[in-house]
Amino acid sequence: WWSHVQMGPPDPILGVTEAYKRDQNSNKINLGVGAYRDDNGKPFVLPSVIEAEDRMRKKNQDKEYAPISGPAEFCKHSITLALGEDNEHVKNSLNATVQGISGTGSLRIGGAFLQRFLPGKDLYLPTPSWGNHTPIFKDSGLNVKQYRYYDPATCGLNFNGALEDISKIPEKSIILLHACAHNPTGVDPKPEQWKELSKLIKDKKLFPFFDMAYQGFASGDVAKDAFAVRLFVNEGHQIALAQSYAKNMGLYGERAGAFSLVTSSKQEADTVMSQLKILVRPMYSNPPVHGARIVSEILGDASLKSMWLKDVKGMADRIISMRTQLRDGLKKEGSSRNWAHITDQIGMFCYTGMNAQQVERITKEFSIYLTKDGRISMAGVTSKNVGYLAKAMHEVTK
Ligand code: PMP
Repeated sequence: WWSHVQMGPPDPILGVTEAYKRDQNSNKINLGVGAYRDDNGKPFVLPSVIEAEDRMRKKNQDKEYAPISGPAEFCKHSITLALGEDNEHVKNSLNATVQGISGTGSLRIGGAFLQRFLPGKDLYLPTPSWGNHTPIFKDSGLNVKQYRYYDPATCGLNFNGALEDISKIPEKSIILLHACAHNPTGVDPKPEQWKELSKLIKDKKLFPFFDMAYQGFASGDVAKDAFAVRLFVNEGHQIALAQSYAKNMGLYGERAGAFSLVTSSKQEADTVMSQLKILVRPMYSNPPVHGARIVSEILGDASLKSMWLKDVKGMADRIISMRTQLRDGLKKEGSSRNWAHITDQIGMFCYTGMNAQQVERITKEFSIYLTKDGRISMAGVTSKNVGYLAKAMHEVTK
């Protein structure tokens, strides 16, 4: 039956980890992984999550199915976290929110909904974008196209290029925006640039779809990281939004996330919600309960929520401090290159500007593993290995 099936290529990021595992060098570093590590390089379960699970255990919860759209309280907490408690849409329930299978599943529900109900079938991604965006939206039946975003010359934003490309996108197309901590580049627009983007996207009648996988994880402040999302909604955009609790609550394997559409009326929210359920039911029937319960436990209790806000700030601050130490380390090694982008960029990843040959050398000669595009996961950098990393980066970029 399957003789015509060809071998597919391995996942580029998981391949990096495989090669790392085989390496015998005791100084080896894995900078490919997109998951937070503590300063000892170990996976981290947030204290607020442990506390939430302790409380849950005492409640003797059953294992019944969740509703198709996930628990209503989880959905309410999610949209409130994104838009803020004072937001008019939140107060008046002008949104349709369903629990998704973390960020990926939420993007996939969004893709399916837009494919079914939006007249325009073209979706524009920034170049570059998270590697999974293209297959997610292609598999949803959308035509995936690009707009300029990153400028390799400055390791920063190509703002003029982005404006020029966006101004040429045909009306009613979808534009995907990373809400904060752009993956893979770590490059975000500044608040004034977001304002300009919002105006242009409105003038051009484009539909904005925000991917918010790092709220709180980027700056340590959940409101600051939601700046762009809140700005667009306040300026009258009816956005689509995918949220993930993988990074900011460390719930990677629990698959808790949400997909929302902001609507113009309560009735529109109800009709749209009915269609979201019709999409979800044949895909996976209903979402997993455990992660969503943890999220509701945390966001539904003031003391636990403030504990979580400290946890998420702790993770963000550790990453920000590693950026500073890496930049200082490169200077100390005597590098004459401009490494300002290491501290300008934000979030889990740093687009170092190292080219494919330099990446090959740093892996071969120093056992430091990263993707060929020169992206390093700052989460894999610790106070113990940052000096070695700086020395190696200087050595291959001299
Ligand atoms: N969007 C972006 C930009 C991401 O970086 C990620 C995680 N790597 C996701 C979405 C989704 O992750 P998850 O499905 O684990 O929530």
